Amino acid sequence: MAKKKLVLIGNGMAGIRAIEEILQLLPDQFDITVFGKEPYPNYNRIQLSKVLQGDTEIKDITLNEWQWYEDNGILLYPGETVTKIDKENQVVYTDKGKETAYDYLIIATGSNPFMLPLPGADKEGVTAFRDIEDCEKMIDASNHYKRAAVIGGGLLGLEAARGLLNLGMEVDVIHISDYLMERQLDRAAAELLQKELESQGMNFYLEKQTSEITGKKRVTGLKFKDGGAIPADLVVMAVGIKPNVALAQESGVDVNRGIIVNDHMETNVPNIYAVGECAEHREMVYGLVAPLYEQGQALAKHICGMNHQGYKGSVLSTQLKVSGVDVFSTGLINETADSKSIKVFDEWQNTYKKILVQDDKLTGAVLFGDTKEGTKLLSLIKKGANVQEYLESQQASDDGESIVAAMSDEEIICGCNGVSKGTIVNAIKNDGLTTVEQVKGKTNASRSCGTCKNLVSDLLTDTLGDEYEADTKESICACTDLTRDEVVAEIREKGLTHSKEVMNVLEWKTEEGCSKCKPALNYYLGMVYPEEHEDERESRFVNERLHANIQKDGTYSVVPRMYGGVTNAEDLRTIADVAEKYEVGMIKLTGGQRIDLLGVKKEDLPDVWKDLGMPSGYAYGKSVRTVKTCVGAEFCRFGTQDSTGMGIQLEKKFEGLNTPHKVKMGVSACPRNCAEGGIKDVGVVGLDGVWEVYVGGNGGTDLRKAELLVKVKTQQEVLEYTAAFLQYYRENASYLERTSHYVERVGIEHVQEIVNDDQLRSELNARMDQALSVYQEPWSNVLESETTLKDLYQKVTAK
Ligand SMILES: Cc1cc2nc3c(=O)[nH]c(=O)nc-3n(C[C@H](O)[C@H](O)[C@H](O)COP(=O)(O)OP(=O)(O)OC[C@H]3O[C@@H](n4cnc5c(N)ncnc54)[C@H](O)[C@@H]3O)c2cc1C
Ligand code: SF4
Repeated sequence: MAKKKLVLIGNGMAGIRAIEEILQLLPDQFDITVFGKEPYPNYNRIQLSKVLQGDTEIKDITLNEWQWYEDNGILLYPGETVTKIDKENQVVYTDKGKETAYDYLIIATGSNPFMLPLPGADKEGVTAFRDIEDCEKMIDASNHYKRAAVIGGGLLGLEAARGLLNLGMEVDVIHISDYLMERQLDRAAAELLQKELESQGMNFYLEKQTSEITGKKRVTGLKFKDGGAIPADLVVMAVGIKPNVALAQESGVDVNRGIIVNDHMETNVPNIYAVGECAEHREMVYGLVAPLYEQGQALAKHICGMNHQGYKGSVLSTQLKVSGVDVFSTGLINETADSKSIKVFDEWQNTYKKILVQDDKLTGAVLFGDTKEGTKLLSLIKKGANVQEYLESQQASDDGESIVAAMSDEEIICGCNGVSKGTIVNAIKNDGLTTVEQVKGKTNASRSCGTCKNLVSDLLTDTLGDEYEADTKESICACTDLTRDEVVAEIREKGLTHSKEVMNVLEWKTEEGCSKCKPALNYYLGMVYPEEHEDERESRFVNERLHANIQKDGTYSVVPRMYGGVTNAEDLRTIADVAEKYEVGMIKLTGGQRIDLLGVKKEDLPDVWKDLGMPSGYAYGKSVRTVKTCVGAEFCRFGTQDSTGMGIQLEKKFEGLNTPHKVKMGVSACPRNCAEGGIKDVGVVGLDGVWEVYVGGNGGTDLRKAELLVKVKTQQEVLEYTAAFLQYYRENASYLERTSHYVERVGIEHVQEIVNDDQLRSELNARMDQALSVYQEPWSNVLESETTLKDLYQKVTAK
């Protein structure tokens, strides 16, 4: 039988999802042709916000590569617009002169951004935020201009504004209502959100209506109806969208606000369907992917001739994608005369939760600051659950039961893609999945906005349990079959005190160990017995053995410590004198704000240290290295806190601490983050009255953005939480595992749980103090030991 001709107009999220569903049901039944106005394969529009905010790149947001179309025999015409539908003869026409006949036609043309018809709206520098081109326009503008104005304080406007801040622009948000995101949040949550965003550097003009966009060729500013005006080099309009229905309308398909469809997504014209943001179902037009994907499923089933009751409409939920700001809402937002609400406001933790109840049933929720319950609440509200069921589920999680464990199989884990717990668990069990990526590939869960990634990861742990552990068991090196955790446990249990003893008792396969296990064992022993363990210098790598970095010509480089990156004239003079005296090859400023003297001969090292008279900067060590700082409140116009002082305190406290790998820190005094804390092992950002502590960042080969660990009020707390984090990392990470890999592996939530537990935090701090108490400055130590000087630095004797 000849295949049916299926044509899709619109290569976007909803249309392609419908095709994916069809391919799953009847892989070989249709000849599929797709027309897409944009010149790209199907990409994740949701992630544009994350691209703008610097969390991901355009090249990484493709959902279906070109190859996918080929593999599935789909004829794709990218960059080609359908201009006419001849519904009588069942043919579509394109702007490039193509005619294509169809048996079934799906219209999935999405929406157009709504552009306010303001005078000046056509000027250069005015853009919407809808597609890759808009995103690129904004990124480009940020390279040349300083001030951005975002019209619209809704979800999209705020995500755009955060992105523009990240791109280094000054950002004003103009909003017509008197509070932000009024369609998704109540006033209380919106006010908390505004405060948070203001502290990140966003500036708001509420209850303001723009009357004109000023400028000659390019925009120079905005004028307001009430007479005010602000300057702007870039104007982003994020005031709403309107379904893209022109083509359907001109072709005689019934249209209201969107293209009118029934529960099977059929329009009034035979064999023409509509899905996505362009469709209107039961007088509702949706602007989020979860309902659009549900529509795609219903449409696929219908086209494939499956029995299905059709699409019945969706309960919506919203999550703001701005890092460090957790906001969630679903169902009804504001109280009515017949509703009651459960409200919890924790001013200290800055969290707010409101759950609306009507006739004992949950009808809506707003969460700010802690959105972990979002998925559960959405699921309960969708099924019209009783308030009692919610309270019981809460009791279970208070008792320590994980949220996913307490969920039923039908409950939805991935809201965007409608993937239930049962589907994921079955896929993990039946297809042997062991990673979030595999679950994503198999089930689509976490393939869109990504907010359910942690739940998916919890499900993996919950489902695989010990087996998961067994699968990932990795010995510390080829000399033993034992894992890092097993070795550390044996050291503790059997009271082993020296590497040789560990190797002997634990039946190492080699007599001497290897370059992998020797330094690792020395580290673990030092970590377990900070006071008793005598460092096994011979196990250390050359840089640590010699306390300087060996360079490729066999000379060494020397970096004196300079707390917080601050120096003074006297120290600079001394450094200059030393550099001259020992004829160092180069004096260089390091990426960590320190001075590097390169090209020092090994035998000169002790004399160089002696003449410098400064402590070692540990530029060579698996230890705390530098704490980079920004100028901070003392001098900078934007600074809100004493970042330099904070950095100095951190560096002084943790100086010389042995860690599994090098640890770098950064402290800034505002979200501009000049000390680049976002890519440090510990990054501290000072805001008005608050310090944010980020951990697990890395600017090296595996670039990783740090994640927010905690927000605290005082410098003392920054020290306390940093100590707890570092000690926990010291005790649990594998040797040579950077904090970035460690945090990625165990998950930030886990680390947060530990350091937020008052008892655990205080115990970790006590053990950290113990580890720090035995610190000895290594350069002066070497200078005091004739034997070390002789053994390691040969001919040299320091005078
Ligand atoms: C920055 C941003 C962030 C978002 N964040 C979220 C979020 O966090 N959560 C969420 O659920 N949703 C979010 N959304 C909304 C979500 O992206 C949309 O709901 C979804 O993409 C709509 O899918 P669609 O297929 O209907 O439309 P689209 O994805 O817009 O696809 C329609 C496609 O059709 C093409 N087209 C139009 N006319 C023609 C024609 N005549 N011929 C050929 N091609 C044509 C268009 O160029 C477009 O590529 C966000 C949207 C944006 C812009
Ligand atoms: S991070 Fe520090 S130096 Fe940079 S702008 Fe903010 S306060 Fe100023």
